[in-house]
Amino acid sequence: MSAEPTRTMTLNYLLMMGIDITENDKISDERIAKRLLKALDCAQLASKWLSGPQLTPSQMEKWDDSESLNVALRRGNPVDGHRLARPDIEAKFKKPNAPINAFRDLRTSINQLGELWDKGQRVTRFRCEDKLYAITMRMVEVVKIKNKIPMIVLLYRATTPAEPSQDALDHMWKSVEDDPRSYSILASQSEQRILLKLLALNAARIHPAYRVSRELFEEGFGVSFLIPTGPLTMKDRASLNEDTGCVVCGNKTTKRCAGCELVKYCGAICQRKDWRTHKPKCMTLAKVKWHRFTFSPPSEENQAYYMNRYSRADDEDEDTIAAYLTRQEKGVPPPNNRADRPFLIKIQCNLSSILIYDRHRSTEFTMFRNESSDEDFMKLAQATWQENGHLKSYRWAKRISNWTLEICLDVQPPDEPEW
Ligand SMILES: [Zn+2]
Ligand SMILES: [Zn+2]
Repeated sequence: MSAEPTRTMTLNYLLMMGIDITENDKISDERIAKRLLKALDCAQLASKWLSGPQLTPSQMEKWDDSESLNVALRRGNPVDGHRLARPDIEAKFKKPNAPINAFRDLRTSINQLGELWDKGQRVTRFRCEDKLYAITMRMVEVVKIKNKIPMIVLLYRATTPAEPSQDALDHMWKSVEDDPRSYSILASQSEQRILLKLLALNAARIHPAYRVSRELFEEGFGVSFLIPTGPLTMKDRASLNEDTGCVVCGNKTTKRCAGCELVKYCGAICQRKDWRTHKPKCMTLAKVKWHRFTFSPPSEENQAYYMNRYSRADDEDEDTIAAYLTRQEKGVPPPNNRADRPFLIKIQCNLSSILIYDRHRSTEFTMFRNESSDEDFMKLAQATWQENGHLKSYRWAKRISNWTLEICLDVQPPDEPEW
């Protein structure tokens, strides 16, 4: 397993994190690789917890083992919290041939580390089914970055068929495998690769003066750490999805096709080159009618619903959760980086509510059916119901203001978009 993921793999990792750059986007490999690191940092809220000087864990406050590390690792992260607390439900909804989501698996595994720590187990091995690829890990200590935010300091080493583990490593592993508490974590190659990225990223944040006492066979091990890691916030997804560059050459640009504003070009030369491909789609959008819909911030009775829609609270201490809920109560709208440019939305209906969201789930609105919304509700529902009996459809929308969208009801995207 080469340490560096290929372009396709990196794009795939980004997609799992809600960042949709396609193979057709001409953005350079280097910028894509950087974006993956940024996304990983967003997943661990690094700008909030890790922006200071390099860390010396031995000088940091120790984690109080009377508090469950497993629970602490998913505090403030309702998405993973619900998912991990009820694996039976997750299993029920899992599609049989769903592709591996290495990013979600990674979050699950980090939580498993917490569970192991709580049980007193310190050594583990991430391994894929054929056991050819593995990451051996020893949790050295758990400290606090801040009150209630744990940081697992660890030693790790990856082994591959090309670079098998030393005998000592195997010996060590055998000895813990005989231990009834021992536990290895099943992790696909893909998950191991993204874990190694994250560990390398964090390794650079440890002060070089920090020393770990090592067993003899741990000489070649790297030292790094893990902190709570969850899905990206809507705000981060919105900003990481911006700037995919000119669709023809990949240069940075903010200019768009004036006809539809759906694709970006750096200038007239690139636009002309792409016209034959783009023309059918562009023409579709030039003639459409826009219908205006106003949504409202969550009211008291649908708070709980909204709470679940948001991927994670930005923090986990009570004060910030309170601040988060206040923001909700005050009706802070979803972030808007698009101005009034058209974008694709998915509309999903049921009898009492309509959910509208973009591909990245960075923009999301809900309409609840009641007396005042009934007319708009039916208009949207009918547009959605009309086609092939499905209760979902794809449309173009423009963000007019914080709570207002203009939606094109009459014309659908030419192809079923990849969602
Ligand atoms: Zn260009
Ligand atoms: Zn166009």
